[in-house]
Amino acid sequence: MTHRGNRLAEAVVSHETQGVSVKNNGIQQLLESPDLQRRYGLSSQPVDEAAVRRAVVDLLYALGEQPSREGLLDTPKRVAKAYRELVSGYTTDPVKLVNDAIFHVEYADMIVVNDIEYFSLCEHHLLPFIGRAHVAYIPDGKIIGLSKIPRIVDMFARRLQVQERLTQQVAEFIDELLSPRGVAVAMTAQHMCSMIRGVKKHHASLTTKAMLGEFDCNRDLRSEFISQIQRQPLL
Ligand SMILES: [Zn+2]
Repeated sequence: MTHRGNRLAEAVVSHETQGVSVKNNGIQQLLESPDLQRRYGLSSQPVDEAAVRRAVVDLLYALGEQPSREGLLDTPKRVAKAYRELVSGYTTDPVKLVNDAIFHVEYADMIVVNDIEYFSLCEHHLLPFIGRAHVAYIPDGKIIGLSKIPRIVDMFARRLQVQERLTQQVAEFIDELLSPRGVAVAMTAQHMCSMIRGVKKHHASLTTKAMLGEFDCNRDLRSEFISQIQRQPLL
């Protein structure tokens, strides 16, 4: 964790102890609104595991396999369970995720949360991509509990994605939630679809960035953010 991250942790702890969370300021309504759920692809509909099991049986036949052979007997069940977890981001309840952990703080410096591990599923091949996210924002009176940032990343990562959209969605959600002066998100990942098939670039990693507000228009801030995350191992 960075020095700034530690400072944030201290700020959050002291405010949690005093119970000064931000309430009744429209955030609850925002998080509950069907509009927000639609825009961020959230749903209360769980994965239809029975349908996934049937589809996996079909897939096994299509691959020339016998779903009745011993090693494959429970495969449809296991795959359905695995997918439920891999796409659990769709059914994240944003109200529970935020859980009143937004606090008023007079702190105007950049807050950086580095090195958030995540996994996602490439929507083009249904193969995983695995990497790290780095998130920064400059508060404008409101901060969010430190542990919530990785959970926001997971909400958008655990679904069918492309890394570019994932990066943008994390930035936009934080922007909407906190109305900060700026948000920066950088993500790297290794994509199984390019590592194990086609050109087989085993170590190629993709980096994507989203810069909103002051990060978009202030080159110094952007450089400060980039230099902070470059001190971290990227993968
Ligand atoms: Zn792919």
